[in-house]
Amino acid sequence: MSCPTCLPIIFTKNPTPTPEEKRNLILNNPGFGKVFTDHMLMLHYNKEKNWHNATINAYGPIALDPGVCVFHYGQEIFEGLKAYKTKDGRTLLFRPEANAKRFANSAKRMAMQPLPESLFLQAIYEFIKVEEPWIPDPSVGSLYLRPFMIANSAYLGVKPSTDYLFMIIACPVGSYFSKGADAVTVWISEFYTRAASGGTGEAKCGGNYAASLIAQQQATANNCDQLVFLDAAEHKWIEEMGGMNIFFVFDDGTLLTPPLNGTILPGITRDCIITIAKDKGLAVRQERYSANQWIKDIKSNHIKEVFACGTAAVVTPIGYVKNQQGNYTINKGQVGTITQEMRETLI
Ligand SMILES: *Cc1c(COP(=O)(O)O)cnc(C)c1O
Repeated sequence: MSCPTCLPIIFTKNPTPTPEEKRNLILNNPGFGKVFTDHMLMLHYNKEKNWHNATINAYGPIALDPGVCVFHYGQEIFEGLKAYKTKDGRTLLFRPEANAKRFANSAKRMAMQPLPESLFLQAIYEFIKVEEPWIPDPSVGSLYLRPFMIANSAYLGVKPSTDYLFMIIACPVGSYFSKGADAVTVWISEFYTRAASGGTGEAKCGGNYAASLIAQQQATANNCDQLVFLDAAEHKWIEEMGGMNIFFVFDDGTLLTPPLNGTILPGITRDCIITIAKDKGLAVRQERYSANQWIKDIKSNHIKEVFACGTAAVVTPIGYVKNQQGNYTINKGQVGTITQEMRETLI
């Protein structure tokens, strides 16, 4: 492959890696996001040297100037993708080119230096080669890769940073929700919103998550696992479930998901589900859908299944809905057939 943007990535093996026995114990029951692998990748940018100084070193704390922009004004973006082992022992990544492209788009929205897509991919490929032993058996889970980039110039002026640090870290993961593939209970967030028109809803930036945590606290206080965000203008139209896109399955067999209008994160899993549904001959409508209509459709049994989707949890059934007014149950809290089919096809 010709790769004009590729760089030499200097690999220094972790001198004290996790002992194999301990690693195997972790890989048998990894949880989600609790254990990091033995290495991390770092790559720097500045105007003079362009992208430079690419390394894979032992995982550990890094030193940063307390003045760097990321700590003050939050210029940060990230990605999430998974590497899987096949039954015959090969390593597969799930659509990494789509992550590379979205990462560049997120960078542009946050006025950060976009990482060339081919360099993002080179970094992912070389990193995964080093951390292959950390990919769990396919019956257990996968290796979750977390590429991210921070503004790394030290000054307190409100302007885009001129220096950036790109990194990749990774965690072996089992299922994202502690309940596995059971249906979750969601709280409809009628006050707090995630993203407004003209804002950063489309960019995968940490700030979107920071702003959403209080709404998640409210959902937890109402005994819900997750929350559903409504639009910021009218507090009426359904947007996403936490950090996942959302799909509704109706009694006529059609699927509906909110359209990508600038406030919704363009999920790669969302895109796959639309494609798979169409392949299976199911109609997919990308249309606005109000929370009020949702409740009505649950009561009248027009809604058969609802699920959320994203890289971390793949497909999560939504079985119970709560808002200020009451509680509603979808499909008796059971996992629906289309939800199940989508999950299995994707995996
Ligand atoms: C990452 C993310 C998703 C899911 O995107 P995938 O590419 O499917 O993992 C959905 N919503 C938000 C807010 C996200 O950050």
